[in-house]
Parts: sequence; C-alpha cells; structure tokens
Amino acid sequence: MATGGLKRKNDSDNDVKAKKANNFWKGGLLTSMNDPDLQVFSDERITVIKDKYPKAKYHFLIMPKKNIPNLKSLKKEDIDLLKYMEEKGRELSKSSDAERQFRYGYHSIPSMSHLHLHVISQDFDSPCLKNKKHWNSFTTEYFIDSKDIIKTLEKTGKVEHESFHFTSLLKSDLRCHVCKKEIKTIPALKTHIQQHSYQVKTTDT
Ligand code: AMP
Ligand code: ZN
Repeated sequence: MATGGLKRKNDSDNDVKAKKANNFWKGGLLTSMNDPDLQVFSDERITVIKDKYPKAKYHFLIMPKKNIPNLKSLKKEDIDLLKYMEEKGRELSKSSDAERQFRYGYHSIPSMSHLHLHVISQDFDSPCLKNKKHWNSFTTEYFIDSKDIIKTLEKTGKVEHESFHFTSLLKSDLRCHVCKKEIKTIPALKTHIQQHSYQVKTTDT
C-alpha cells in the first residue's frame, strides 16, 4: 500500500513537471518575438518573426503585441488588428518574392500559445516539413484563412469551432494541395509537388 502511495506521488510529480515543460515550450513564441535572429519587423501593434522550423521556403509568424492567447479569445474589437496583421503579411510576402503564391491563416488548433498568423509560401519546400501532421495542418481545412476568421468575427462576434473535426483532419490521407492527387508518403509527395513549382509561383491568392 505504502509503495502504491509513493508511486502515485511520483507519477503526479512527473505530471506536474511534464505540464510545466509543456507550458514552457508552448510559450516559445513569446521568447522568439524578441530574438534578433528571428524578428523581421516590429511596431506598436505587432511583431513578425521567421518561423523557427519553417514548413516552406518562406514562413513567417505575425503576432499581436496585445495579449491574445488564441482564436477563442478574439473579440469584435480585434477585427482591425486582424486586418492589419493580414495586410502586413501580404506586404511581407510581396517583398520576399512577389511571384510566389502565399497563404495567410491560422491553425484551427494551434500547438503554441499566443495568437499567430502564418504567412506561408505554397511551395512547401523545406526539410522541416517531415510528416503527415505537418502537411495536413497547412493543406486541409485545419488551416483557416485569415479572411474567413475575420468574416466569422464580423458576423458572430466570436470564433469557435469543434476541435474533434479538426483533429481528425490531421490524420487524413496525403493529398497534393494543387492537383489533389492522393500520394502515399511524404518523400513521394515532396517529389510530386516539384512538378507544380510553376503553379505556386503565379498570382496572389
Ligand atoms: P501552430 O500549430 O499554429 O501553433 O504553429 C506554431 C508554429 O511555430 C510552427 O510552425 C512551428 O514551427 C513554430 N515554432 C515552434 N516553436 C517556435 C519558436 N520557439 N520560435 C519560433 N517559431 C516556433
Ligand atoms: Zn499534384
């Protein structure tokens, strides 16, 4: 009995430690906001950083200075800020590569704390893109366009969604984001998308 009690205590100590480590990791974006190697722009409303593990040739994160933990915390009064973040994202993609196609959006279930808008080129040409979860998080409905978030907020005054639906999207079969062909593996998908390189270098979305 005594050993069982000790085991339970150790387990709960480990749970607390794991939770603390996870919270520390989830807060990494706030540290990176002030990292001169990652920061690309900052003003009184936002900070823009390079994604530390980019999933495409160009991948930036735009964060508000205001404390907004996630999509659920958004209020109608934040609409102007969200529009400003997207506008800055579009400027940034033009100055990075005006020919390349980009998307501007949010992960429905983010892994990191503090609201962040992904500005990501559609080549997905990066060694950091390694698995199905990475691919599906940027190429399925798991990735919600900034425009749609703004529209929802304008219409309903809040952004809420069913997390179960989004979690299952991460497990979907791999599909090319351009021609929608199903491809079995990430290496095969990476080879396949090279043939679309001209299509992800066309007009703005
Ligand atoms: P999300 O799933 O929307 O929370 O995406 C978080 C993004 O942050 C991912 O694209 C990661 O590659 C990126 N990331 C993770 N840790 C850091 C960090 N410490 N600094 C900058 N970017 C990070
Ligand atoms: Zn294709």
